[in-house]
Amino acid sequence: MARQRHHVKSGMPWLAAAADAASWCLALSVVTLLLVCSVGAGGAEQQRVVVRGAALSARPCEEIYVVAEGETLHSISDKCGDPFILEQNPHVHDPDDVFPGLVIKITPSKPRVPSSRGNAEGGGQQQQRYNFRFVRHARDAPPVSYYNYIIVGGGTAGCPLAATLSEQSRVLLLERGGLPYGNRNVSSSYHFADALADTSPSSPAQRFVSEDGVVNARARVLGGGSCLNAGFYTRASGGYVRAAGWDERLVNASYRWVEREVVFRPGVPRWQRALRDGLLEAGVTPDNGFTLDHLPGTKIGGTIFERRGRRHTAADLLRKAHPRRLTVFLHATVSRVLFRRRTRSKVAYGVVFTDPSGAQHRAYVRRNRGGGGGEVILAAGTLGSPQLLMLSGGVADNPMNSVFVPSPVPVALSLVQVVGVTRFGSFIKGVSGSQFGIPIHDHSFGGGGRHRHHASFGMFSPMTGQLGTLPPKQRTPEAMRRAAEVMRRLDRRAFRGGFILEKTLGPMSTGHVELRSTDPAANPAVTFNYFRDPRDVERCARGIQAIQRVVASRSFARFTYNRTSTATIFRRAAGTPFFPVNLMPRHPGDTRSLQQYCRDTVMTIWHYHGGCHVGGVVDKDYRVIGVRGLRVINSSTFNYSPGTNPQATVMMLGRYMGLRILKERWASKGKDVKH
Ligand SMILES: Cc1cc2nc3c(=O)[nH]c(=O)nc-3n(C[C@H](O)[C@H](O)[C@H](O)COP(=O)(O)OP(=O)(O)OC[C@H]3O[C@@H](n4cnc5c(N)ncnc54)[C@H](O)[C@@H]3O)c2cc1C
Repeated sequence: MARQRHHVKSGMPWLAAAADAASWCLALSVVTLLLVCSVGAGGAEQQRVVVRGAALSARPCEEIYVVAEGETLHSISDKCGDPFILEQNPHVHDPDDVFPGLVIKITPSKPRVPSSRGNAEGGGQQQQRYNFRFVRHARDAPPVSYYNYIIVGGGTAGCPLAATLSEQSRVLLLERGGLPYGNRNVSSSYHFADALADTSPSSPAQRFVSEDGVVNARARVLGGGSCLNAGFYTRASGGYVRAAGWDERLVNASYRWVEREVVFRPGVPRWQRALRDGLLEAGVTPDNGFTLDHLPGTKIGGTIFERRGRRHTAADLLRKAHPRRLTVFLHATVSRVLFRRRTRSKVAYGVVFTDPSGAQHRAYVRRNRGGGGGEVILAAGTLGSPQLLMLSGGVADNPMNSVFVPSPVPVALSLVQVVGVTRFGSFIKGVSGSQFGIPIHDHSFGGGGRHRHHASFGMFSPMTGQLGTLPPKQRTPEAMRRAAEVMRRLDRRAFRGGFILEKTLGPMSTGHVELRSTDPAANPAVTFNYFRDPRDVERCARGIQAIQRVVASRSFARFTYNRTSTATIFRRAAGTPFFPVNLMPRHPGDTRSLQQYCRDTVMTIWHYHGGCHVGGVVDKDYRVIGVRGLRVINSSTFNYSPGTNPQATVMMLGRYMGLRILKERWASKGKDVKH
């Protein structure tokens, strides 16, 4: 290990080494290459490559795989379900070194390893398309219809809520976006950033820029944020559950219900393992291994991505719905909740929604004979829910600050898998992948020739607004365009590596949402007031210091250049303030500059929440205060972001509240609701 470290750290050999490797590999015949490369794999993870008789046959994904004309590393990864090709084939220096005739080793992901809590659904079964006969286009909606429950927003909370309520009631789920299936930007981890970079009106991500200047995104698709997110799945802490006043037994049952469908134990590539070991070395202990629980120390969490990178989403939970009791309309934008005045209070009795042709439809709540049961439930997210209520009780967004760590060796793609839960209110995670910023070869583009298209700059690209070196207010569209230009000219090896990022607990700073117009499709104006509370900036500074310790750790050495060459690589490669990566602050002891670094490089981790929080806009049963027949159930009700990441608790809350509402509804009739 020490020798290997010395080797990769002595200077900056990437350009010369790449040229050497390419010509070396090209000069050899396929069989010689196979032998040489398998010997050269080296390291503890080296595995013997067995050349079978049919090794070079046309079978789709043999262990020994011969690259065909027109294939790229990404297309092979997609086809063969092997996300770790780069790490298993050290002779392949980066995605662009893949050429016809090259022999590589493929290890297709095995069917999912049963997790401590999740199920063990096999990989083959995941291919199936769900038969959602109850999902229809809004243009097919009748002008008037009646349901027991009308849910606005088919997102991360809305889908499990609808599936649960449909077990015993007639439910309408209205979602303004389309289906997540068949869209590779949603379904493949390789295209995680592409969905965010797609700013077209049909994109599953609707871009918005907060008044603070931070570029952000909100979901516009069935499954909501679970179709855009980085997939990390982790429960809320026991303290969070108790403080929320939730029934712990029902909470656990609801988490398990979600986990059986959509949660996986990740295959942890070397970069993530180095991050885990670096965190432990940096004092973020104990090592909690793999767990879905929120515990201080370092752990591997769950993910909604299968090992081969296919995403599962909250929309998959609709498989649990009663197919005849649930109706889902897509491209149905709710513009209004209908209220009737009663002597003392308002009562919500329906909604108005619009299909893409502009036609209006009305859906009304059907109540029990006694006037009970039946509700409108807003699950339209942190921005959509207050927007529809036209009131807001204070939103918040957890600041994220990241450090890009360039690597001398290729790094496989990984989204968040490991988290360090520090005791000072900072959560440390990482994402890696050598295709960050690298234009993807697109062979279908320009008449079949080998052209580059520049649509994708990968994670944290200027196209998603993650310009970490520019202060937020300067992240203008023009700055992003210039950054994209600069990146196009850079040597792609400058992008090898990963981001280690810090999310600030809470946060303590809050902001507000204001309507800009009455158009439900338009973004409201949002101000998050990042770091207004000094406790947030202190937590961030300590988080950055912890990241510095991780980068300097022995465990992480394989994936870092030594200090001099890191500075050089950035001077040469970046040479511009628009390069969307962050340099490590130079003076770790200088806390003032770390605080400034936090303020200047703040980004979003997309965990914004609040707006309809419990105690302000809704009561502890999620009923809108002062209104009958109207609840809000989603991330807008959170005072703080739960656990290190919210989606587990958002999905759990959908199931949990669905069960509680059914119980309330049937309690009077003496019926039982099974969990
Ligand atoms: C890029 C990104 C990365 C993230 N990474 C992670 C992660 O790794 N782990 C994690 O735990 N969390 C992550 N998150 C956060 C997590 O995904 C969100 O907190 C969660 O999805 C919010 O769920 P929700 O139900 O509150 O809202 P959403 O899931 O956004 O659902 C709201 C739904 O309502 C619909 N809607 C809104 N207005 C209307 C209307 N007027 N009419 C009809 N429909 C409407 C929207 O289209 C949307 O589908 C990430 C989020 C993003 C965006």
